[in-house]
Amino acid sequence: MANENTLQNIISHCKEYGFIFQSSEIYDGLSAVYDYGQYGAELKKNIREYWWKSMTQMHENIVGIDAAIFMHPTVWKASGHVDNFSDPMIDNKDSKKRYRVDHLIEGFAETLTDAEKAKGILDQMDALLAADNFAGLKSLIESNNIKCSISQTCSWTDVRQFNLMFKTEFGAVSGEDSEDNIVYLRPETAQGIFVNFLNVQKTGRMKIPFGIAQVGKAFRNEIVARQFIFRMREFEQMEMQFFIKPGTQKEWYEYWKETRMKWHLSLGISPDKYRFHDHIKLAHYADAACDIEFDFPIGFKEVEGIHSRTDFDLKNHQQFSGKKLQYFDNDIDPTTNKPIGNYIPYVIETSIGLDRTVMMILSQAYQEEDLSTEEKKDSRVVLKFPTFLAPIKLAILPLLKKDGLPEIARDLMNDCKLHFKCFYEEKDTIGKRYRRMDALGTPFCVTIDHQTKEDQTVTIRYRDTMVQERILLSEVKSRVLQAIQGF
Ligand code: ATP
Repeated sequence: MANENTLQNIISHCKEYGFIFQSSEIYDGLSAVYDYGQYGAELKKNIREYWWKSMTQMHENIVGIDAAIFMHPTVWKASGHVDNFSDPMIDNKDSKKRYRVDHLIEGFAETLTDAEKAKGILDQMDALLAADNFAGLKSLIESNNIKCSISQTCSWTDVRQFNLMFKTEFGAVSGEDSEDNIVYLRPETAQGIFVNFLNVQKTGRMKIPFGIAQVGKAFRNEIVARQFIFRMREFEQMEMQFFIKPGTQKEWYEYWKETRMKWHLSLGISPDKYRFHDHIKLAHYADAACDIEFDFPIGFKEVEGIHSRTDFDLKNHQQFSGKKLQYFDNDIDPTTNKPIGNYIPYVIETSIGLDRTVMMILSQAYQEEDLSTEEKKDSRVVLKFPTFLAPIKLAILPLLKKDGLPEIARDLMNDCKLHFKCFYEEKDTIGKRYRRMDALGTPFCVTIDHQTKEDQTVTIRYRDTMVQERILLSEVKSRVLQAIQGF
């Protein structure tokens, strides 16, 4: 059984079957921006809903909000994004191509046959990055004679920081060169949660520990924008900020590491496809951080980050806004026998990319199967999605377009479509229709034939095993409902 799980095949499959298209494709596309087609949008929605439910429905102390993309510009000064949300870049003077310094050096190290030398260069790079030593990074590039892939020259500018936030102008003053009307497209959804911390805490009468979850678009002017929906300039994040008492961050950090890994495993993916990567160089706001990495067709890469953000964000928003962002804890402190009183909560963040999760689910589900027998060659491409995530749950297929079979099929469709997504199809041979449903990842197909009229049974076919059996027409709905129950 062949199982070529390559990124290129997945990209082609997504385009051919209406999952993901390049944005503005008729104009040759827009780099690192993608559109979800009819099945991709369903898949993405199902993942989003599963995450939302796991957070806000399964945890009594987590609520969800939906904050605006535009925020007051000072938010991004307070959060540190104006000063710190940047990557060191270098331009080649001949080709004018801009590179992220770490990617340029890593790319060069990968080409070396001497593994020890490669490691030495990467270690040097890590140390220079950690020290923000830009001159050192430039001389590392020059001393190793690292060339631009386009011009093949070694003529480099100095290393500079490049901010990843998209800027735009707000209101009627557009065109005037004023700092006052600049707004940013949010580079993360988290800040919408922090600035609403008190609104939610007070109106929801939330008691610490509690969490606020949010799903929404984020924008980053990524320099290296390759690898399909893994790294996009416009993407969706699913974030949750968990507010806790200072001093308890270590336990909650461990709690959320474990809880999030369990969520990943609940997608039916085996544990050896995941690993934790602990951060050594911490972001400006964190006192501990790790990534959950998934074994994508392009190797182990981050799909989710878990960060212990201390009180960095709330403290800074308090300072920049001049508004108190504190929690009054009326639990009794056993040492003083008095209420604990006011403090700025600490925060544990879980932040997962929705698009990266889509890519993870697609990579896991995509299989090319060789079904050849001695008599004939045969194969199929199948997306083995977990049933609860599949864009279509049930395909309803009358064998012929006549003899009253479509009417029976339509009745079944009407009975089921309120409960889950169904697909009705009467064109093509039944074999072709099954293959198409495999390619869309539909877990159940039912065929209505002449026997249905006699004994009220249908053929149900299971996507993964391709096993077919006859069951009562009246049992179809409950079969599917049973498979998605609890999700
Ligand atoms: P990376 O190191 O890959 O750039 P990051 O550490 O900057 O990611 P975070 O700021 O922690 O990412 O964002 C949380 C999550 O958002 C990531 O784990 C990822 O799933 C998703 N994400 C971040 N940037 C992008 C992007 N450009 N395209 C798609 N998803 C993204």
